[in-house]
Amino acid sequence: MSANGGPGSGTRDHVDVWGAEPRRNVNPCAHRGAIRSPSPRSSGCTQCVATGDSWAQLWMCLTCGQVGCSDDSKNRHAMKHYEETDHPVITSQEPGQTWRWCYVDERYV
Ligand SMILES: [Zn+2]
Ligand SMILES: [Zn+2]
Ligand SMILES: [Zn+2]
Repeated sequence: MSANGGPGSGTRDHVDVWGAEPRRNVNPCAHRGAIRSPSPRSSGCTQCVATGDSWAQLWMCLTCGQVGCSDDSKNRHAMKHYEETDHPVITSQEPGQTWRWCYVDERYV
């Protein structure tokens, strides 16, 4: 189990791209240009609040500030936001969590 609880928790924490292929050139995430450092638009997942649902964690789109629920939540609105908008990078709204996750590259950036 991962302490940070992010989308890469569990087995993804041990992706062997580094160990198995040490000479492989891992390109930097090309989506950092989409990061705008917005302020969160809301203090909860707007869509879950509207329907009375709950969520596990809150993530925020770093392009537009849309707050959505995490992939381990029932509705996965953060991922749906990515699918609808192609805004690629999210961060956690949970206290103490500072990671950023690129949905396109499926890794921390
Ligand atoms: Zn990326
Ligand atoms: Zn939601
Ligand atoms: Zn967005």
